[in-house]
Amino acid sequence: MNAAHSSQAELDAFRATVRRFYETEVMPNWQRYAAQGHVDRELWNRAGALGLLLLDVPAFHGGAGGTVEHLAVMVEEAARAIDSALGFSVHSIVSQYLLAYASEAQKCRWLPAMAKGEIVGAIAMTEPGAGSDLQGIRTQARREGDHYLISGQKTFITNGHHADLVIVVAKTDPREGAKGVSLIVAETKDLAGFRRGRILDKMGQKAQDTAELFFDDARVPAANLLGGEEGRGFGQLMSQLPYERMIVAYRAVGAMARAVELASAYAKERRAFGKSLMEFQNTRFTLAECATEVAVARAFVSACLDKLLAGRLDAPTACMAKWWTSERQCKVIDRCLQIFGGYGYMNEFPIARLYTEARVQRIYGGTSEIMKEVIARSL
Ligand SMILES: Cc1cc2nc3c(=O)[nH]c(=O)nc-3n(C[C@H](O)[C@H](O)[C@H](O)COP(=O)(O)OP(=O)(O)OC[C@H]3O[C@@H](n4cnc5c(N)ncnc54)[C@H](O)[C@@H]3O)c2cc1C
Repeated sequence: MNAAHSSQAELDAFRATVRRFYETEVMPNWQRYAAQGHVDRELWNRAGALGLLLLDVPAFHGGAGGTVEHLAVMVEEAARAIDSALGFSVHSIVSQYLLAYASEAQKCRWLPAMAKGEIVGAIAMTEPGAGSDLQGIRTQARREGDHYLISGQKTFITNGHHADLVIVVAKTDPREGAKGVSLIVAETKDLAGFRRGRILDKMGQKAQDTAELFFDDARVPAANLLGGEEGRGFGQLMSQLPYERMIVAYRAVGAMARAVELASAYAKERRAFGKSLMEFQNTRFTLAECATEVAVARAFVSACLDKLLAGRLDAPTACMAKWWTSERQCKVIDRCLQIFGGYGYMNEFPIARLYTEARVQRIYGGTSEIMKEVIARSL
């Protein structure tokens, strides 16, 4: 990726569109989505019709023709709305793999449909026995003529319930570690041997669909191997992970900014001992510190985004942004929640949802510990 900056006026106008989408289309239905564990399928089509999917995919391939800056705006607005229901981030991540490694014919077939929300994308790396240690995956793809037969189990897969296109991380050579890993696209419609498991019941991010997937000799065309050569999967994952990590970092900044906003408003209203909470020095200092952390996080993340835009974001720097902002997110939200007293623990107060949405940010996309391992290796 190597793109020019968008104008601030254009990004502001786009931000207004996204905010309206969340306020009018997502938030009014959020409780229902949370109860069922996934959004309605039509929300994907609606987002597609509004041009909110595949923001940084060229118009030539059916995308919105923007840049990763547009995606960052969307991520921040979703965080601000305290919502993770629509899994557009993973959908975008999948599109980046397709842009980088699919054939031209495949791009023309999949990307425009993904942009319209007709195809929902997912990426299936994690298995019950292997998450951080991806070399240890057991899912296998065995070549048989013009097809691969995929067998294995995946878990914690975002968009798993709705996914029409799943990038499956599989071993094409089980005797090898990283060198035996390949990425193969499974189109789930009428795919014999493919089955979705339960939608997992999570602590937070209740409206986002996260599911198990099962493959039992699922027959996928050999042409769906990304990159055209077996054994390239691990390198492909490593190349694309900085993009995913920046999405997590942007979500962290958006969420903690919202927490400070909510806590500041509450502290001005709530009274105790004859004063507003904002008049207590402890509250003032807590909020001043949290606001500073948001500003510092934002500055670092936007510097990283500039690098991503210029095609120069290296893996350790993306890991720094991911672990640091997600850890800050949890701390800042926890401190802001404290200002709400008992109300902070009540689900009807948005700060409670900010709290439960935050925890997973330190886990998915690579845990904080793995981020530090990657950074340490570069030192
Ligand atoms: C809501 C949600 C959505 C997700 N979405 C997806 C998705 O769409 N696709 C997908 O493939 N996966 C997805 N995941 C999976 C996620 O990426 C993994 O949970 C994560 O990578 C950690 O793997 P694990 O759960 O197996 O933990 P483990 O790898 O078992 O780690 C357990 C603990 O050990 C630590 N640890 C492991 N190795 C080391 C080490 N070398 N040094 C120090 N500490 C270590 C970890 O940091 C962690 O604290 C999702 C997870 C969640 C919860």
